[in-house]
Amino acid sequence: MKKLVVNVKCPYCRKSLMDSEKQIDGYPSVKTKIQHGDKIGTLYLSSIFGSYNIISDIYVPKEEMVLFFCPECNASLLLKDLCEECKAPLAFLELKNGGTVQICSRQGCKYHFMDYTNFAQKLSAFYDTHKTLADPSRKE
Ligand SMILES: [Zn+2]
Ligand SMILES: [Zn+2]
Repeated sequence: MKKLVVNVKCPYCRKSLMDSEKQIDGYPSVKTKIQHGDKIGTLYLSSIFGSYNIISDIYVPKEEMVLFFCPECNASLLLKDLCEECKAPLAFLELKNGGTVQICSRQGCKYHFMDYTNFAQKLSAFYDTHKTLADPSRKE
C-alpha cells in the first residue's frame, strides 16, 4: 500500500497540528486534545492516512467516544455529521492546502476519509515525495 502522509491544521485557528517531536510510524504525528468523561488528554494520531496508530496520554476504552479539540485554540473539532459505520460524531481536520480529513470519534472505529474538491491540486497537500499516485484527472 502506498503511503499518503497528511499535513493538517486546525480548521478554526489555522495553526498546524503537526508535531515533529512526537513521531508515529516514522512521521510527525497529528496532535489533538481529547476529552473522555472528566479526563482531558492529548491524543497523537498517525499522519499516515490508513494507519490507526495512536498515542494517548489518557486511557480510553475501545468503543468509547471522545471529544476532539484543537490543542491551540480549544475549538471543538467535532462535526454534526455522523460516522457511517457506528453513528458516532466525526471529527475533522483541515489539510494544509485545502480539503479535510474526517475521522470517527469512537476509539477503535476505522472509519475515516478525505474530502477533496480537486484531487490533482490537493496532491501538493502531501509532503511524502516518495509516493507516486496514479490520478486519471491529472493534467500535467
Ligand atoms: Zn485551533
Ligand atoms: Zn465510527
